Amino acid sequence: MTAAILRINTPTDLADLSHTWHSAGLKIGLVPTMGALHHGHLSLIDRIRPHVDKVVVSIFVNPTQFGVGEDFEHYPRNIDRDMELLAGVGADAVYTPTVEHVYQSGFATSIEPGAIAARMEGAHRPGHFNGVATVVVKLINQARADIAIFGEKDYQQLAVIRQTMRDLDVPVSIMGAPIAREPDGLAASSRNMYLSTEQRLLAGQINKIMRKIISELHKGLRVDDAVSRGTKALLDAGFDAVDYFEIVDADTLLPQTTIDGHCRLITTVRIGKVRLLDNMAI
Ligand code: AMP
Repeated sequence: MTAAILRINTPTDLADLSHTWHSAGLKIGLVPTMGALHHGHLSLIDRIRPHVDKVVVSIFVNPTQFGVGEDFEHYPRNIDRDMELLAGVGADAVYTPTVEHVYQSGFATSIEPGAIAARMEGAHRPGHFNGVATVVVKLINQARADIAIFGEKDYQQLAVIRQTMRDLDVPVSIMGAPIAREPDGLAASSRNMYLSTEQRLLAGQINKIMRKIISELHKGLRVDDAVSRGTKALLDAGFDAVDYFEIVDADTLLPQTTIDGHCRLITTVRIGKVRLLDNMAI
């Protein structure tokens, strides 16, 4: 037995719905996603629900955050299954705009996040965070959201979004949610479905290697040695590339030379064309 779920396609309809809810004194929570939903996405809905009266999930594969040669065209899309999953967890509305709805004719503005977006994912995906920051502001504005929630799975993205909302005085609270993992420790991701059986087995090593390096850091391993040892362990395990393996301050995301209880290990590795992101508190 699943609850009724509203499907909204246009910014105008979403604004009307939000207006009705706000007029009734209800608080609105937004869960932005690109669809191909998994238990990580669903955990965001569970986390935001106690803080709001209505939960809106947006499903929008945002072209402006994909670079040339990335997987925008082939990004997994399965709206029927997503709708079933969302009805099952009791989301109140699903917002599924088209690209033309979000970027209307003549659209010309883009948000350029500062230094927090420059390194790691920002360095490997030029322009990615401009696209993310811009679309997230648009989605939050379109939904008139009181709270929006993002996963720590995309740790730098969460930091960029917090900074953007603060800098632009967007009247929204941003919540972060811990990473939902598969039983072998791999962070749940829509892109995991790109992996072959053999690649999927290898992917489970990412988190194991991270945990091992973190425990060695706690036993006194130096940060620079941890970075080189972690990178080597990933390459030796069979990953095709390690885009970065960094120990950074959990807020500024700047590289650290010592660990001080407020650090994060963040990595992105590649198997073939698939990039897999993970991070952990140290
Ligand atoms: P995506 O659909 O990949 O753009 O992700 C939508 C939101 O879900 C983002 O805030 C992600 O950080 C979050 N998310 C994706 N995977 C996970 C996960 N395994 N655990 C927690 N949050 C996640």
